[in-house]
Amino acid sequence: MNNTACRILLVEDELQMRRFLRTALTARTFEVTDATTLREARLYATAHPPEMILLDLGMPDGDGIDFTRELRGWSQMPIIVISARGKEDDKVAALDAGADDYLTKPFGINELMARIRVALRHASLRQNGPILETMLEVGPLRLDPVRREVLLSGRPVTMTPIEFRLLLFLARNAGRVLTHRHILKEVWGPNDTHQTHTLRVFMAQLRRKLEPDPAHPQLLMTEMGVGYRMRDSWE
Ligand code: CA
Repeated sequence: MNNTACRILLVEDELQMRRFLRTALTARTFEVTDATTLREARLYATAHPPEMILLDLGMPDGDGIDFTRELRGWSQMPIIVISARGKEDDKVAALDAGADDYLTKPFGINELMARIRVALRHASLRQNGPILETMLEVGPLRLDPVRREVLLSGRPVTMTPIEFRLLLFLARNAGRVLTHRHILKEVWGPNDTHQTHTLRVFMAQLRRKLEPDPAHPQLLMTEMGVGYRMRDSWE
């Protein structure tokens, strides 16, 4: 990946964390701008929009979740939350506010780099317009959105229309954690966002059809208390 032109806005009030991230990201040829308050972050984000934001939630002049919601009012730039708050409710709130991903401190730099790659890839897909007709490949899975066909390691798998819609949405967002609410809204519609039970049932069905051992999924991962993530890296 060529990161030469990739600018990251780092919104973090802790000096040590800022130093650590700046050093690590700069070494990987990202260009880093620091903001130590949300006020500064707002200023930089509007004056000179970066390719991506790394955002701490507990900031001296406000909360990162509110800031995420505010940014989403005018921008689709990728936001990865980096926070010491590890509770499921906080993750769900940040993701539902529009964050692309969430990392709980402390985290390793390789983990961060993997999440940055996924977020940038999805941002470039968003920018390059409709991807609706494109054939999708994730690990052993191949999806044809036009013919509504699913192949698993070359073998066709029969899907109901809802199973297919669900699988397609997960595949288009492979690597990203998606909250229950987000998935329900996209697949079932805005009025059914409380039906997490329905979602669980359909995920179980997909796993039965696609996972060699549905109790230990390798493709359709559970993010406990938050939602689901389709695995996107296959060594
Ligand atoms: Ca903080």
